[in-house]
Amino acid sequence: MRLYNTLSRREEEFRPSLDNLVRMYSCGLTVYGRGHIGNFRTFVCVDVLRRTLEHQCGYQVRQVMNFTDVDDRTIAGAQKAGMPLREYTDQFIDAFLEDAAALGLEPVEERPRATDEANLRAMNDLVVALERRGHTYRSEGSIYFKIATFPTYGNLARLDEAGIKPGARVDSDNYEKEDARDFVLWKATRPGEPTWDYGVGPGRPGWHLECSAMALRLLDSPPIDIHAGGVDLIFPHHSNEIAQSEGATGEQFARFWFHVEHLILEEEKMSKSLGNVFTVKDVVERKFRLSALRYLLLSSHYRKQLKFSWTSLEQAEEAVRRLSDFLARLDQVEQASTPAKQASTPAEQDFSPALRRVADARAAFGRMLEEDLNTAGALGVLFDLVRSLNTAIDSGEVGAPDVPAIREAFDAFDKVLGVMALRRAEDQSTGLAPEEIERRIEDRKAARRRRDFAAADRIREELASAGILLEDSPAGTRWKRK
Ligand code: AMP
Ligand code: ZN
Repeated sequence: MRLYNTLSRREEEFRPSLDNLVRMYSCGLTVYGRGHIGNFRTFVCVDVLRRTLEHQCGYQVRQVMNFTDVDDRTIAGAQKAGMPLREYTDQFIDAFLEDAAALGLEPVEERPRATDEANLRAMNDLVVALERRGHTYRSEGSIYFKIATFPTYGNLARLDEAGIKPGARVDSDNYEKEDARDFVLWKATRPGEPTWDYGVGPGRPGWHLECSAMALRLLDSPPIDIHAGGVDLIFPHHSNEIAQSEGATGEQFARFWFHVEHLILEEEKMSKSLGNVFTVKDVVERKFRLSALRYLLLSSHYRKQLKFSWTSLEQAEEAVRRLSDFLARLDQVEQASTPAKQASTPAEQDFSPALRRVADARAAFGRMLEEDLNTAGALGVLFDLVRSLNTAIDSGEVGAPDVPAIREAFDAFDKVLGVMALRRAEDQSTGLAPEEIERRIEDRKAARRRRDFAAADRIREELASAGILLEDSPAGTRWKRK
């Protein structure tokens, strides 16, 4: 597939370097709070990339996504809460896992925590390797990376030479491009901070060191194929990861750098430090379904900013409904027999115009994804197909024998999108939102008015299988949960 590479600022042809296996590292959540839906925009886009590599391109994926459970922010949070660091971060890891499942993120192969002993040891060893190769110096108990020793420092961020201040140091995990300085690898112990000593001296890792060490430890020999994250990580985080990993190994660290643009709220990046955040939980509390949120987060190209609003979430909900209504309609086509129009042999079926349209759409959908993950274009193809098949159904051109192939195509689309599977899981849990139930009751009323009793019964059964019982009375229909 073609994939934009931040390193070259161009789209390039992507193929894994080792056989069929894509080795991918994506920076995970800093667990000092519940992840917000901006974080999840990045995670959903990376999930769609992963699914595309697997289900569209046929590769196997080994993905590592870490938890940053020790850094300036987690330490400050734990201190404020008066809790041990591990206990403090545990609660946000649990919340992340819950939200990730609720948003249909495929489980990844490895979810390392920075404070796991094997990872801390790997960080220690990386510092040792950097010391051996002359990339470090020590000052007041801390160990710094000397950027003047790494001539390509800042290439990923297109840092201009003027921004680099050799000799000056920075201790904080995050800072701006103008403050490009020697950055801290291992921080001296400070009162009230956790501290470890595996050889380089007592202290704790800097944030950037963590990801380099975990990626190199868990993804074998560099270069790894893809390194992913949000655009805010290009500098300093990923720039520093490159300097550390390449400084220590002498090998290229990652071949492709995949960066997702921000989710924006009222013209500003959604970010915990600005306080303008909504979480997945907030979205559920507002009675939205997460299949709609997932749809919204993947509906625009990952390299474009996405403005969040509740109205756009309502529109996403409508789009998901259009899709689920269409799939429900396929069931009706299958059940209603229209023998006159049905293709009678497999050969005729192959030439049915509806199936030809489906085959074309499948190819176009795949092409869109393989063109730098154009999810917006892929959804365009999908909805064009829904429109044209709805028209074909109206005019009786689609018969029961066409349905399995159509369904198979929509299942294939959803392997990558992951929206309808999520919607089905939501429907099956008893958590059907009240407004969704009301809507289905209205649909049933409309079906009865047009004397389509089969459709009305089907809605009753669907609701029953979702745990919702209907009671009809002269005053109308009431519902209750089983
Ligand atoms: P953090 O917890 O700050 O380390 O961020 C976790 C991931 O979310 C990183 O890949 C960030 O780049 C990404 N991220 C943070 N804010 C946003 C946002 N508003 N939109 C998209 N991605 C974001
Ligand atoms: Zn990282």
